[in-house]
Amino acid sequence: MPNPLYDALFAPLEGRTSDLLILPDGSRLSGDAFLRLVARQAHALRAAGVEPGDRIAVQVGKSPEALAVYGASVALGAVFLPLNTAYTAGEIDYFLGNATPRIFLCDGTKAEALAPVAAAHGARLMVLNADGSGEMSDLAEGQPEAITAADRAPEDLAALLYTSGTTGRSKGAMLSHANLLSNAAVLADLWRFTEADVLLHALPIFHTHGLFVACNTLLLTGGAMIFLPGFDLGAVLRLLPQATTMMGVPTFYTRLLDDPRFARELTQGMRLFISGSAPLLAETHLAFEERTGHRILERYGMTETNMNTSNPYDGERRAGTVGFPLPGVELRIMAEGAEVAPGEVGVIEVRGPNVFGGYWQMPEKTAEELRPDGWFITGDLGMRDAEGYVQIVGRQKDLVISGGFNVYPKEVELLLDEAPGVLESAVVGLPHPDFGEAVFAVLVPRPGVTLDAEAVLASIADRLARYKQPKAAVVLAELPRNTMGKVQKAQLRADHAGWFSR
Ligand code: ATP
Ligand code: MG
Repeated sequence: MPNPLYDALFAPLEGRTSDLLILPDGSRLSGDAFLRLVARQAHALRAAGVEPGDRIAVQVGKSPEALAVYGASVALGAVFLPLNTAYTAGEIDYFLGNATPRIFLCDGTKAEALAPVAAAHGARLMVLNADGSGEMSDLAEGQPEAITAADRAPEDLAALLYTSGTTGRSKGAMLSHANLLSNAAVLADLWRFTEADVLLHALPIFHTHGLFVACNTLLLTGGAMIFLPGFDLGAVLRLLPQATTMMGVPTFYTRLLDDPRFARELTQGMRLFISGSAPLLAETHLAFEERTGHRILERYGMTETNMNTSNPYDGERRAGTVGFPLPGVELRIMAEGAEVAPGEVGVIEVRGPNVFGGYWQMPEKTAEELRPDGWFITGDLGMRDAEGYVQIVGRQKDLVISGGFNVYPKEVELLLDEAPGVLESAVVGLPHPDFGEAVFAVLVPRPGVTLDAEAVLASIADRLARYKQPKAAVVLAELPRNTMGKVQKAQLRADHAGWFSR
């Protein structure tokens, strides 16, 4: 009986004696041992009432047991629904209400607070602690170590993955077996993954990046993962020499560069560093190459589509770009109903086997963003350069319209970032009595520098049309970011909303 995702990612682990997971304490789990854990958990979940099509919501720390729940969910033909460990009871209430899962798995420290929330939405609460202990493990203990996976069609759902909520309320993207498999196969090929690879995995596994881009690709190709609960700089520096590849968000790379212990020798066994989920500054890209001799490969993806584009493995990895559409993925950049010319900005649309089937229980949202002919309107603004490399210019929702003119925050941010003493910046539009919106800048100084916001604005004034010039700026110690390194512009707008109306 076929189960596309299980057959491709998990079944091949049977009898595999080589390591699948390498943990920071030096312990290791072979492919076969992991698969037996998957089977025991699947039996436990089935005994707890899980049937094909049921959602299994999971808000637990990263561990082999947590990853095994993903395998168990796939084996049962259920729908895996991982949730950010930072979400509070109020947020969990929203997700459980929207998704109505059969099971809600959480950490023991949160069980008491979340029990009423789970009960309110008819979910059975079970505990899985970050160290692998808890009710889930107890129930899995002694269960059979093999399982026949449930029959599934390629278009059946494998996961319900909620977007990060950067631009509004999180939406549940419905991802099928075929969606996830098509992307894993393309990435494995494009990035040349083989069973000899060891991926340094310090990303969370509740997000598309760490779960699908990283784990699916490695499971498909038979490599191993150094599985770190988070980005612990000491552990990363210690374990990097054992790795061949790393996937990270831009902040991983800036944190490495900030540490004097991060030396070229540590990266000699590495063949590939990949970055995504948020823009990698060209400056980071160049500094990393200078320090290590490696060019970071930047790529672009999202919850709804997994991965869309990648810089080339062999060709030029161009700083400030996310490369080309993946094989089998179509990408177009649209403005006013037509594709724009190279160098012009428009909204990125994507079509292909990777594109999700719609938002769970949100037919109107789905109709707004997913065209009947399969094109998904990403909400990201982009352009192609003369060679076809795609650049992400920002998000449509972050576009500032000041006095009727469009201002792309990135254009202003790039200039501000070059100003003396500025480490980084964020530009947002704030309500303004005359212009509708006015450009507002948030500046972060380099270490040890005292920034004069007015002087910084004056220094870029002759390089920008008047309507693009920030009308005011503040200096902050750091930009608000979420766990994936995304700048929270909605928060900046809310924090400074009244600035121009005072
Ligand atoms: P929401 O959709 O709920 O507002 P979100 O879009 O942040 O949240 P994700 O699906 O986690 O949720 O993030 C995808 C987004 O991340 C993309 O649409 C894009 O804006 C951004 N992104 C991903 N990779 C890159 C990259 N390499 N460069 C710039 N932006 C990127
Ligand atoms: Mg989004």
